[in-house]
Amino acid sequence: MHELSLAMDLVEQLNEVLIREKATKVVEINVVIGAMSGVEKVPFEFAFPEAAMNTPIEGAVLNIEELPLILKCSDCNQEAETDELIMICPRCNSVSVEIVQGKEFLIKSMEVR
Ligand SMILES: [Zn+2]
Repeated sequence: MHELSLAMDLVEQLNEVLIREKATKVVEINVVIGAMSGVEKVPFEFAFPEAAMNTPIEGAVLNIEELPLILKCSDCNQEAETDELIMICPRCNSVSVEIVQGKEFLIKSMEVR
């Protein structure tokens, strides 16, 4: 249950924000999950309410935005979005690529009260 431990980490982070903001409850949270982050959207959606149970985060609305993998190729010098989670340029098949987007797993925004 990889997603459950990630969800528990997230709940912990949210708790820290609540304390810092002197707020009591998280109403809504927007999370970004990249295609290469290793986090699966659906299991995470299931794990979150479980992790949030009996915390001030319980009942918060979780919105997940999925980001596709974007690679930058140093051979054809282009950025390309790819559905396949492999480190190969979809334009020229070069392996000289780096990830521009897709490793994200973060809180984009949240609403507290
Ligand atoms: Zn290329």
